[in-house]
Amino acid sequence: MYLLTFTFYIANFDFMNYLDVINEQSRIRNFSIIAHIDHGKSTLSDRLLQITNAISERDFHNQMLDSMDIEQERGITIKTQNATIFYESKDGEKFALNLLDTPGHVDFSYEVSRALMACEGVLLVIDASQGVEAQTIANMYMALEHDLEIIPVLNKIDLPSADVDNVNLQIEHDLGLDSEMSVPVSAKEGIGIEDLLEAIIKYCPKPKGDSKAPLKALIFDAKFDPYRGVHVFIRVFDGSISPGDEILFMQTGKVHKVEEVGILQIKQVPTKELSTGMVGYVIANVKGLEDTKIGDTITLSDNPCETELPGFKEVKPFVFCSIFPAEGDDYKLLTDSLNKLKLNDASLIYQPESSLALGFGYRCGFLGLLHLEIIQERLEREFNLDIVTTAPSVEYIFVLTSGDEIMVNNPINYPEPTKIKDAKEPFVDVNIITPEEYVGNVMQVVIDRRGIQKHINYLDNKRVQLDYEIPLAEIVYDFQDKIKSVSRGYASFDYHFLEYRKSDLVKVDILVNKKKVDALSMIMHREKSQIKSRAVVEKLKDNIPRHMFQIPIQASINGSIIARENVKALRKNVTAKCYGGDISRKRKLLEKQKKGKKRMRQIGEVEIPQEAFMSILKTDIE
Ligand code: GDP
Ligand code: MG
Repeated sequence: MYLLTFTFYIANFDFMNYLDVINEQSRIRNFSIIAHIDHGKSTLSDRLLQITNAISERDFHNQMLDSMDIEQERGITIKTQNATIFYESKDGEKFALNLLDTPGHVDFSYEVSRALMACEGVLLVIDASQGVEAQTIANMYMALEHDLEIIPVLNKIDLPSADVDNVNLQIEHDLGLDSEMSVPVSAKEGIGIEDLLEAIIKYCPKPKGDSKAPLKALIFDAKFDPYRGVHVFIRVFDGSISPGDEILFMQTGKVHKVEEVGILQIKQVPTKELSTGMVGYVIANVKGLEDTKIGDTITLSDNPCETELPGFKEVKPFVFCSIFPAEGDDYKLLTDSLNKLKLNDASLIYQPESSLALGFGYRCGFLGLLHLEIIQERLEREFNLDIVTTAPSVEYIFVLTSGDEIMVNNPINYPEPTKIKDAKEPFVDVNIITPEEYVGNVMQVVIDRRGIQKHINYLDNKRVQLDYEIPLAEIVYDFQDKIKSVSRGYASFDYHFLEYRKSDLVKVDILVNKKKVDALSMIMHREKSQIKSRAVVEKLKDNIPRHMFQIPIQASINGSIIARENVKALRKNVTAKCYGGDISRKRKLLEKQKKGKKRMRQIGEVEIPQEAFMSILKTDIE
């Protein structure tokens, strides 16, 4: 197997010449590409891969590293991907450049921070027609936190609206970086790519580490493979790792024998070893998912290193929701799928729960709403599951009359109202950058969402930076869409957790045909409860099909009804209307009903389709 892959590779590419390079610390560079979303990270990765022959013309397609279907379709990067690029510099020296592509959306900053721990430098890509945006700044701070060399890259210089001089000023002024180092490129047209590679070699430090010391490698990612066990992706900090080594996973205490190591070039390419400074994969017959912990340190079992690597900061989920199988029988499949997803996405958190309405499922924690959507989509696509998701919630604190404090992220656990002394909700710092003409619009959105203004700062004569304190619950729904739509897509934002603050919270229950549907309950600010409840019952009315009887849909707080709609009773002769008409229309209707059936939930006498549960997820209250 090893030999086969190896020969195949030589045929394609002058691989032999480069084999020594990956064993030579001074010829290795590890870097990440970070940027605000859409500034061109993935396109730039494509170019880097192409110019260095890491990928043949025949196999090439756009956004090469975005390997998941969802990533390709949405044009966004969710997972960090890595690839080893071989490059011969202008001075005729050969280098192995390990590139780690990262996601740009704020929800995935955990992915970014993991990639950064495996690097010495970053390319901070800035769209030369857009300039510095909120995530550019946030990403830069993250790179600084990890003590990385930052190389500014001005992308999209082919655009007529590109303003290289002005963006260089922003690099100096907004970011405090040296614009002398910045490299102008067009990822799309392939302009300036060689200069960029030279800059990487020049500015990105070579990896530190002691090749003679016992193996010390960081697991920064993993992937499940049903045939060969878990593939772990590592960065070697000290020593080296080869097939045959007995390795110890320091945190889990598990010992495994290495079967194969190698580098990533879209495909996995086996090598003899991974030496100090390298990034690559290890296959060691690791069957149990629980054995592999992202952030764990790998060492040799008979010659272990003394201390573990610091690993990763514990992730804090921001948004929670419950996921149930659309069909109860699929509970085991859901469990299995979540276990596998967890391996590939360490930021996912879940624990079993049960609902009267929906049966057994999981309460899950996410880094943000986009993260939630992605997980939901991956469960459906990659694992072929039909799922029902409940409305997202943040985590609240309740101080009880007994003096106890409890954290509640699931409306099911809302305490007895008479026992609540105080309620607190999480606040975040929001940092928004917008062109001046949209400041008014953007402010209105933030004020509608209970935002408290902190600072206004003119970055230059065109762009304004706004700082607000805002309840997290107000931005998890559709804040991103709103900010974008009122600014024609130009405003951008970033947020950080601030603190818990006292708040007037209520639990809104939803009753369908007088029966409380526990999975539809929501915790929210009292001020918003009326308007939100009305929107929700209206949405439900539109999404619950008519039955033979009238169905009242009500929202209540603590037993008193605050909103109501009715799903009217079905007129008995309604199907008769189809007779004599278009027969295919009727068949279509029946087929649709049959398909819909599967995703129905029986609550008392009423069948509620999955879409009804989903619809309140997207309830717009403005
Ligand atoms: P990412 O979100 O940072 O990964 O950005 P993408 O690589 O997905 O690029 C976002 C959009 O910008 C895509 O439509 C690209 O085709 C476009 N784009 C990327 N680089 C360039 C460039 O150099 N010039 C132009 N004109 N468009 C570019
Ligand atoms: Mg991308």
